[in-house]
Amino acid sequence: MFNKKKNIAILGSTGSVGTQTLSVIGEKSNLFNVFLLSANTNYQLLLSQVNKFKPKHVVINCLEGYSFLKKNVAKNRTHIYFGLNELCGLMDENEIDLVVSAIMGSAGLLPTIAAIKAKKDIALANKETLVVAGELIMNLAKENGVEILPVDSEHSAIFQCLLGEKKSNISRLTLTASGGPFLNTPKKDFNKITVSKALNHPNWVMGNKITIDSATLMNKGFEVIEAFWLFGVSEKNIDVVVHPESIIHSLVEFIDGSTKAQLGVPDMTTPILYALSYPERICYPFNPLKLAEYQHLNFYMPDKLRFPHLELAYQCLISGGTSSCSLNAANEVAVDAFLNKKISFLNMFKVVEKSVEKSIFVSNPSLDDYLYVDKKTREFALKLISKK
Ligand code: MG
Repeated sequence: MFNKKKNIAILGSTGSVGTQTLSVIGEKSNLFNVFLLSANTNYQLLLSQVNKFKPKHVVINCLEGYSFLKKNVAKNRTHIYFGLNELCGLMDENEIDLVVSAIMGSAGLLPTIAAIKAKKDIALANKETLVVAGELIMNLAKENGVEILPVDSEHSAIFQCLLGEKKSNISRLTLTASGGPFLNTPKKDFNKITVSKALNHPNWVMGNKITIDSATLMNKGFEVIEAFWLFGVSEKNIDVVVHPESIIHSLVEFIDGSTKAQLGVPDMTTPILYALSYPERICYPFNPLKLAEYQHLNFYMPDKLRFPHLELAYQCLISGGTSSCSLNAANEVAVDAFLNKKISFLNMFKVVEKSVEKSIFVSNPSLDDYLYVDKKTREFALKLISKK
């Protein structure tokens, strides 16, 4: 096993992956130590995490939360910081062994970059980082000798299928998709989709934003982009298949016709655990897969007409440059507007398509270009929404 306890920094500790990561660490506190926690605004939950895990550092992104923590965290035990700049600066701490990047949306980009520059291995749950700036992130990781360990269940599956294999022997990746809650909803009924229906995912327990992305299949589109960058496979050789049971988490086909898959019950614990323990596997009280209980596993082609976001993601990959960055920015704005009941489910597709179509395009973007395009696309999408 490891020579010493791994010191873990969790960016986004109050979100779905953050809290599940802490459960894993709580179960395996002989192997892992929580060194740093960060959260956006949920300071009540953050305080209870600090009290339980006693990290050396804690970072909150709202001033109200900062004064709350100052008042309520036991003195001399945990250092308290405010905001993004402090968070990025803390990534340089020598003691950090692994950074779990689990902030929601493109807000995760800058701290993840700071962690890579500080040569920390990354357990990547924040797929938006690769959607926004995949080329930049992968180049930085290479330059700094950093491992990007996928936490996304599909990519963890592919990563595990590729152990001991040569990348040059891959012929095709197949990402499985649950299909979300509207897999069997006819298009004519899409205008009746409410927020609570869209938040009711059949298989996976996740945060609100990714649950809506799963309902529109934007999540699967993002995962195609994520796989493109993580595994260096052309989009022509990345397929999506709908598999409502979510038992097969993804597949890799090799040039000799052999296909490997990774299976398990749908539970984020396994991919989180694997990213934390890599390259080891550690014993854990898991929920076993009993295939006979399923009897049938089903597979369908995704319906690109009802869920146009999937095709749009492929188009953005082909266009390259800042296209996927615009796609992400427009989608974040549209999902937020839908969750706040400002636009309908169907209008999310329209807002995203239009915003991507009208966005600024930079073919060889720098970090500043990405940030600028992100900002401008958000402004455009917000304007569109205000007219609806
Ligand atoms: Mg996934």
